[in-house]
Amino acid sequence: MDKKEKKRIKEQVIDGSIYKKKRYIQWRTRVFRRDRYECQMPGCGARGGHLQAHHIKMKYYFPELIFHVSNGITLCWKCHKEIHQDDTHKKLVRKFRKIIRDKKKVKDGKKRSKKD
Ligand SMILES: [Zn+2]
Ligand SMILES: [Zn+2]
Repeated sequence: MDKKEKKRIKEQVIDGSIYKKKRYIQWRTRVFRRDRYECQMPGCGARGGHLQAHHIKMKYYFPELIFHVSNGITLCWKCHKEIHQDDTHKKLVRKFRKIIRDKKKVKDGKKRSKKD
């Protein structure tokens, strides 16, 4: 991603038009699918309904990661709102990345936990 495109994405983040872009919607769907439409906040487990895809590393400061599925995590609107309210999400970067890493391991490896 070149400088020009980064700048364009930042502008789209600010004016909100990014949310209507096909690429963005595709990214969100991929994140939801990977997380099986379930809020990934430990202890929450909300499914379906008002799910949102959160950017682990802020999309404004890391526009180059905006369409990386590994930079997204599924959260219910409640958890999402909470972590943005007081900037908690900055402290959750490592935790979220670990959740996704562990998910990959399960997918790649043989062990698959059946919780349901
Ligand atoms: Zn977010
Ligand atoms: Zn939640």
